[in-house]
Amino acid sequence: MADRHYILDVSAILDMWLDADVENNPTARLLEDAEVAGAKLWVGASALNTLDFVAVRRLKDLGAEPETARATVQQLMQQLLERVAVLSLPGHEQAALYAEARDFEDAQIAAGARSLRGGRVAIVTLDATFDTLGECEAMQPSEALARLQPATNATDAAIPFIDLAAQQRRIRPEIERRIETVLRHGKYIMGPEVGELEERLAAYTGSKHCISVSSGTDSLLIAMMALGIGRGDEVITTPFTFIATGEMIALLGAKPVFVDIDPATYNIAPENIEAAISPKTRAIMPVSLYGQCADFDAINAIAEKHGLPVIEDGAQSFGATYKGRKSCALSTLGSTSFFPSKPLGGYGDGGALFTDDDHLAKAMREIRVHGQDRRYHHPVIGVNGRMDTLQAAIVLPKLEVFPEEVHLRQQAGERYNQLLLATDGHGQTRMEEQEPNIGVHPCSSVAITPFTAPGCTHVYAQYTLRVQDREAVQARLQQAGIPTAVHYPVPLYRQPAFADLGYAPEAFPNAEEASEQVMSLPMHPYITESEQQAVINALLAG
Ligand SMILES: *Cc1c(COP(=O)(O)O)cnc(C)c1O
Repeated sequence: MADRHYILDVSAILDMWLDADVENNPTARLLEDAEVAGAKLWVGASALNTLDFVAVRRLKDLGAEPETARATVQQLMQQLLERVAVLSLPGHEQAALYAEARDFEDAQIAAGARSLRGGRVAIVTLDATFDTLGECEAMQPSEALARLQPATNATDAAIPFIDLAAQQRRIRPEIERRIETVLRHGKYIMGPEVGELEERLAAYTGSKHCISVSSGTDSLLIAMMALGIGRGDEVITTPFTFIATGEMIALLGAKPVFVDIDPATYNIAPENIEAAISPKTRAIMPVSLYGQCADFDAINAIAEKHGLPVIEDGAQSFGATYKGRKSCALSTLGSTSFFPSKPLGGYGDGGALFTDDDHLAKAMREIRVHGQDRRYHHPVIGVNGRMDTLQAAIVLPKLEVFPEEVHLRQQAGERYNQLLLATDGHGQTRMEEQEPNIGVHPCSSVAITPFTAPGCTHVYAQYTLRVQDREAVQARLQQAGIPTAVHYPVPLYRQPAFADLGYAPEAFPNAEEASEQVMSLPMHPYITESEQQAVINALLAG
């Protein structure tokens, strides 16, 4: 759904506050209806002082005692700020405004509108002469309210594959506050936000140590360096993953030893691991793909028997649980990524490592800063793998809403399952006709839904189906304005970069079939039921 922003000016808010018939006041109704219509309301930070001052004076003019007027405005202000976000302006923009503005306060609001660029922005005001500096439209509250209506049933509006703006609308003031704090203290490398984030992430996962790093790729590299993995070693992993998993093994001069996946969960099949263990094996690296943990009890048991460490690549599964425990706290080491589109994403690159092992934690902290144990003293070779303070400052407020977002993701995933299984192309219920797929889970007439293994919760980093004739299905959805993606069309043993390993595709029948059939649908915590219904309708329309 298109991004809509309304910035309320002082006149519109005063009109609501002083209206005897507040039920029918258009600004009050805008406040009521904005959220379900997918619109975001703002008030300029600069307007709050004026609003406070003018409202108290007006109430006194109407005969209120000074104390009563103060208390009333205080209460009204609190109610307002529960529904409306505060739009602040960076200092340099404030300074520039003096040069260009006819009315300084109008100009501050107009500049606020400019900072929301990318969405449709309007200033809501009773002032017919409001100077928007040409940044956007100005309109009466009644008109803003009238425009809100079409958005409520705009099912034909484009559906984004991942909607990062919806989350930002929710927590932007807190993100701005955190960034502002970093700009003031100026500790851009390993500032206090980095330590704060590590503590909170460790507590969230239940790990003893968290080491933040520069990306999910670097975190895999640093984990393997801390384990001493290098030339001539072997690391057992899945071929059905993002390139980084196998790439970092190879970068260290080790060999990625691929074993086939479980066709239901798409994760490494534990029963295939033991046959791949050789005297050169130094670690097992399962990936918790799409947001569901691999089968760690089985994998850890094999690892223990052979004295091997287990590194979880949890770049997609942060927030998921396995038998009540959190992803990244299930084995020797856990690694995750804060790439913007991951379940816990930042506004740039970042990642984190988790372990209960004090020695590994110390080694990883040192490798992260050039193998340094004290200033300019380097016992081992390391990398520059730190997470930026600014990035930590951005992930912190995102972590605040993350548990709720995990819940919303799970609900959205289950809703897709139900919509898909309950409806077929002619709007008929097919539940009773469901056929089990390879004995494990139900499917609709056109697609096999994701399977969540018993004891697991899924965070749906991707909501991924299996379909026959994928290209045709993707084209049909694209026609209906619905984006899809394929994770991943080429398994790692088929990548040119790994050609020298000489793997035969026939050795991986499950990964082969999955790479030909999988297709991911739009997914994020704020996707609505009507958007999901539109996706499923388009999917079943063939
Ligand atoms: C995204 C991802 C990575 C790499 O994370 P970056 O932060 O992008 O470097 C590694 N493994 C998997 C499975 C991923 O999905």
